[in-house]
Amino acid sequence: MKFFVPIALLSVLVSCQQKVTVENSEIKEGKTVQEEPTKPEATEFYEPVPPKITVGENGMPSDAIILFNGSDFDEWVSARDSTAVQWHLNEDGSMTVKDKAGDIQTKRNFGSVQLHIEWKSPAEIQGEGQSRGNSGVFLQSRYEVQVLDNNDNKTYVNGQVGSIYKQSVPLAMASRPSGEWNTYDILFHAPEFDESGTKTRSGTITVLHNGVLIQDHVEIEGTTEYIGWPKNKAHGPAPIKLQDHQDNSRVSYRNIWVREL
Ligand code: MG
Repeated sequence: MKFFVPIALLSVLVSCQQKVTVENSEIKEGKTVQEEPTKPEATEFYEPVPPKITVGENGMPSDAIILFNGSDFDEWVSARDSTAVQWHLNEDGSMTVKDKAGDIQTKRNFGSVQLHIEWKSPAEIQGEGQSRGNSGVFLQSRYEVQVLDNNDNKTYVNGQVGSIYKQSVPLAMASRPSGEWNTYDILFHAPEFDESGTKTRSGTITVLHNGVLIQDHVEIEGTTEYIGWPKNKAHGPAPIKLQDHQDNSRVSYRNIWVREL
């Protein structure tokens, strides 16, 4: 897509140039000088035609990959050893972190994505600070959008719910009450690296929390470390990972889908 748009723009420029050249250009000092188009058609184009996407009653686009719809863990494995997921599969179409079973991750690798995921922390309050309803959505297994029960629960703001963990404080705290479902809609553009392994373009993350913009095209500094600075070791497409915070945080997830960008 990143190559597609410039080519599309180039084609409109070329087509404008062709029309404008006839009517509105002049040669000055050996150079063609473009004048402002005077007809609407000169700045209109008809290709490429965007693909048609339909949206189901559940809000899922027709071109999305379903990662979890409540029926099974077919798209997931244990992040620890790639064995079968040990988390709880609930009758209401959700899953819940099984304490100390470890993180889970998608079998598929992903680059840049649009990700929809719903989560809730337990209604029954347990623990405090980072130990209350803590989980996380890791893009490419490295970049965490924090999941935390922050309702009447103070913690460091760059680690609160909706933060890019220890890198970017969310613009707002938009959580529903503990025990109720939240949505995250995440736009993630993967970082790019050259052949020598040097980062040539930072990744970016945009997050809507229950429809509220909380991360606005934030440049990722590197991996979201618990201790230490962000790291920028080169990598390619990688799984989406969900965190077991190992403190009986009992966070649940449901209705997870992704569109590759
Ligand atoms: Mg976390």
